[in-house]
Amino acid sequence: MFKKLLILFFAILTALLLAALFRTIMHTAVQTKPTEGEVILIDEIRAIENLAESIKFQTISYQEKEKFPQEEFNYFIEWAAKTYPEFHQALTLEKLGHSLLFKWKGSDKTLSPILFEGHYDVVPIIPGTEDLWDEMPFSGTISNNRIWGRGALDDKSGVIGLMEAATYLIKNNFQPTRTVYFGFGHDEEIGGGGAALITEKLREQGIQLHWSLGEGSFVNRGFFPGVDKLIAPINVAEKGIMNLLIVAKAEGGHSSTPPSRTAVTLLAEALMKLEKEPLPGSLEGLSAVMFDEVSKHMPFSYRFLFANRWLFGGIIESQMSSSPVINAMIRTTTAPTMLNGSIKSNVLPIEASALINFRLHPRDTIESVTDHVRRIVGSEDVEVRLLGGMEASGISSWNSPGFEIVATSLNKVYGDVISVPGLMIAASDTRHYSKIADNSFRFNPFSIVPEDMTGFHGTNESIDIDSFVAGIKTYVEIIREGSSN
Ligand SMILES: [Zn+2]
Repeated sequence: MFKKLLILFFAILTALLLAALFRTIMHTAVQTKPTEGEVILIDEIRAIENLAESIKFQTISYQEKEKFPQEEFNYFIEWAAKTYPEFHQALTLEKLGHSLLFKWKGSDKTLSPILFEGHYDVVPIIPGTEDLWDEMPFSGTISNNRIWGRGALDDKSGVIGLMEAATYLIKNNFQPTRTVYFGFGHDEEIGGGGAALITEKLREQGIQLHWSLGEGSFVNRGFFPGVDKLIAPINVAEKGIMNLLIVAKAEGGHSSTPPSRTAVTLLAEALMKLEKEPLPGSLEGLSAVMFDEVSKHMPFSYRFLFANRWLFGGIIESQMSSSPVINAMIRTTTAPTMLNGSIKSNVLPIEASALINFRLHPRDTIESVTDHVRRIVGSEDVEVRLLGGMEASGISSWNSPGFEIVATSLNKVYGDVISVPGLMIAASDTRHYSKIADNSFRFNPFSIVPEDMTGFHGTNESIDIDSFVAGIKTYVEIIREGSSN
């Protein structure tokens, strides 16, 4: 009897293993032929110099509104008009404060327009870190095959790249069939009031966009383990954001006779509970599609795991949660950022509080996250207060014309690129534009490597020259295709 059971056990195990192996073999990418694009001869030197020049304008968005450097923004607008005369002649410009809305009228009025957006404001340099830069942050230096300075990646390359691409098309007598808008925001880094105004303006005119494309993730290499191909996560959704205040209460008094539990220790306990019980994350929907596609290009061991999620789902998820970036893609993140306690070293606080910043995955809502936190830490002594927030965006279709045009354009310029739907983990102006668009995508067609990441809002922001040029060519393809049908 025992022997029979043992044989049965091994038979089942062998069958499972064979099934898992079969699934792994099937979980392989099909080889696609790169799409041929026409040769795009842009004036590369001029384009590179223009981006370098644009970086010199200190169009900084300060949190304190009164520090707004209005003149720098005015100079930038004047410089753009002088530098891109064809663009300014062929398109009409409407200024909304310092945000700019350009319209390139299409020949077919019955087609709904498309919109490209970017922002030309930048974040400040953290005081005291200027000397850590290899080149001064607003010098617009060109060296080591790179263009240096604040905005090189986020997001002057986007704005300049779009104007370069449109200029190329205008010079080559291209006429759009579908109307094309360009929205260039001046305050994306502090909420995007300008983009909100542009959106409102278009809405008043009854405009519903076919699709929109704005800043987002980049073509990249080296971010996914074992994948040496270029990956393009074209973001189809954007995370939301919310702040909760956790307030622990206790009796105050003199610190010489503390009770066993004070407001501070109650608060600490609450924070530890939250760390132990993060919002659930899982590989489903959008994230599943992304990792399914990317994992087909991974080495055998990874493919074995991803092809058999029914068996290894738990292992994959715990592995993914250990990487902060991937963790942020699969769940709502919990980040305690600001703490408050006593006002004096020898006074026990009556209240101790922690501000927790959450980035909402599209599957969660402000209400569901607040409920989750209340269930875990809420008590008579610990109160959970909602300070405000913004829900995650809707999810755009990755089986739609806009997504396909971006993916095909990338193939024409870069050759073999794997385009997958992605989730934007930071905020962008697209959260405004998406309100009037059938589908919205967040993606910059420039390429980056992991070492570039510290440049975003950090030190040594710079863009590789070849990457910048390839991005402009991709914009040419996207604008031409997108506005032609
Ligand atoms: Zn940005």
